[in-house]
Amino acid sequence: MQTLAFLTNHNKAPLVADSLADSGFDVVTVDSFDTDRLGTFSREVSRTSSAHETALTKARLATQLAGTRYGLGSEGSFGRDPYLGMLPWDNELLCWWDAHLGYAVYASQGGSDTNYAQRWVTSLADAQAFATQAGFPDHALIIGQAGDSIFCKAVQDPAQLEQTVTAMLEKHDQVWLETDMRAHLNPRRQALIRRAANQLAMRLAISCPACQAAGYSVQQLQPGLACLACDYPTSQTLNEHWLCGACGHTETNTRTGFAEPQHCPQCNP
Ligand SMILES: [Zn+2]
Ligand SMILES: [Zn+2]
Repeated sequence: MQTLAFLTNHNKAPLVADSLADSGFDVVTVDSFDTDRLGTFSREVSRTSSAHETALTKARLATQLAGTRYGLGSEGSFGRDPYLGMLPWDNELLCWWDAHLGYAVYASQGGSDTNYAQRWVTSLADAQAFATQAGFPDHALIIGQAGDSIFCKAVQDPAQLEQTVTAMLEKHDQVWLETDMRAHLNPRRQALIRRAANQLAMRLAISCPACQAAGYSVQQLQPGLACLACDYPTSQTLNEHWLCGACGHTETNTRTGFAEPQHCPQCNP
């Protein structure tokens, strides 16, 4: 087994350990660096880099702090779904880094099964309705905002929620509530991180045909597979572009066959 150093303050190692053990890695937590310095979800520190850059920074730091060849970083992003922009959306990214060869392999999983939400409430009943919707107390909440007189993170005790909200409503018209999105307090994120680890393990299992480095993977899918009925290019994948991060070897695999007419803009507009 090779040691894989995972930089996390939020106990994510058990989520990825099984998948990556299958790839020959023993996942070891590195928690000597405060990852909040790279950005927090609750906006005390805003993230200045992209999710990919932040995950890579964490993976590289992990190798430096642990003195290992291999490092792992992770980064979650919350927003709206990439299709219609209607649903709350969680994207979980993992970055595996080989410090000897100097290349990264990424895996990510996104899903709308997230409790990501925030709002002002004006009564205890409102607060409790928000909490129920958010999956509290299995999922933790944050009460107040950074800079407020009361700002409680990681709230998982119904009595604390009731007392804090009641006390704040005596002084203010409204109280800010949001879901605590840190992974150790958010089981739905944990499920997506597990799926991303599975994908990473599958990617690491494929070696580059030129240099045998792990993590040879599809970088881009190009649509255009011809329609079975009319031969018009469809939204289905025609070409897969593969890339080795270690040596830069690339290949394009062109799919044979035809797409079902249901994917064709001519036959099924
Ligand atoms: Zn067609
Ligand atoms: Zn290669």
